[in-house]
Amino acid sequence: MKKANLICTKCKKQFPLTHINPRCDICREPLEVEKVTSGKIHEGNILKQTMLERYADFFPFTRLDKEISLGEGFTPLAESPKLASELSVKNIFFKNESQNPTWSFKDRGTVAGVQHAIGSGHTRVGTVSTGNMAVSVAAYGARAGLKTFVLVSGDIPPEKLNPIAIYHPILIKVIGDYGKLYFHSLEIGKQQGIYFINSDVPLRVEGSKTIAFEICEQINFEVPDYVVVPTSSGGNIRGILKGFEEFRLCGLISKIPKMICAQAAGCAPIYNAYRSNKETISSVETPHTIAHSIANPYPPSGNEVLRKIKENEGTFVAVTDEEILRAQRRLAGEGIFGQPASAVPLAAVEKLRTEHMLTEHDTVVCIVTGGGLKSTVILKEHDLKVLHGKLEDLNILIENEL
Ligand SMILES: *Cc1c(COP(=O)(O)O)cnc(C)c1O
Ligand SMILES: [Zn+2]
Repeated sequence: MKKANLICTKCKKQFPLTHINPRCDICREPLEVEKVTSGKIHEGNILKQTMLERYADFFPFTRLDKEISLGEGFTPLAESPKLASELSVKNIFFKNESQNPTWSFKDRGTVAGVQHAIGSGHTRVGTVSTGNMAVSVAAYGARAGLKTFVLVSGDIPPEKLNPIAIYHPILIKVIGDYGKLYFHSLEIGKQQGIYFINSDVPLRVEGSKTIAFEICEQINFEVPDYVVVPTSSGGNIRGILKGFEEFRLCGLISKIPKMICAQAAGCAPIYNAYRSNKETISSVETPHTIAHSIANPYPPSGNEVLRKIKENEGTFVAVTDEEILRAQRRLAGEGIFGQPASAVPLAAVEKLRTEHMLTEHDTVVCIVTGGGLKSTVILKEHDLKVLHGKLEDLNILIENEL
């Protein structure tokens, strides 16, 4: 492991990187790896190179176990001139994270977490999640041959449970307050030697930096004006911003985009705190949204996202389920089928454009965090057109559609 410290995001107290507890002993806020101030991209053939190798200068590892990689990262950045013109923004791009090994951006943080777990002598990893993170940790844990503990909520439906179970982790349905489980699992991890790669732990945030790195490379280091991120725990938006900050410190880019923290109106603890001018978030009592992946009622990085995005002069926005569904349809019209949470950024752009927060001079990147097939139950909410006809009438049927 390189010599790097963990720093408390609030009180700035330092801890060694080997300190596995991801929260500050004093203020209980999240820790993060200190910023990289000199580094470059190691360009290679991306058919053979791994994401951790390409951006090795930006990770605290001295040795890489290449075989744990499943080819995470290197996802497309699709430009949409049609939507840019309809929305009257200069450019709009979609960073399509559904093209990761387990179909969401979580793989970026998982591979970094697993690498850190191995590098620090752990043989056990774990996570607390009922969705994409559980699938991702189960897959990479299996890949690396680590004993993998996945803690899910007691009421998880089978369509979510089975895609985790297929990787055969030690899968535990936990009856009780699921919100407390995040903190409780970290305690258990310390006692039992399990490296919990939870939503916003320092190495997961490090993994998310690569989204920013790739965006910079994909638009020739010009940097967008805004990056819109569907936000739950807050780990991903923190990582993306940190990535841009490090590239600037290293002289690879000259400015940092403004980040937009996009939440679902039915569970928007960070947005709510921003709107009511509070410095700390409060728990949402009864979260209710179709965007399950961003329905954390008490995000562990919520306070830090509030601090950081204000400092970055970014903004916060919440969109309704109806707006999310409309955006999901619109995104599919561009050939990209994202899960409901992943349509939240486009819905946010539509809203901010009407409110003139965004202008026709702005270049915007939306993070499509995970693939639509993760949530096929949502398809029944859409008006899906299917024509029926007999073989002998097919010619006429098609002719009517010309
Ligand atoms: C985890 C997840 C998010 C939220 O990311 P956080 O780091 O928890 O803020 C958004 N979209 C999808 C698809 C996810 O899986
Ligand atoms: Zn602190």
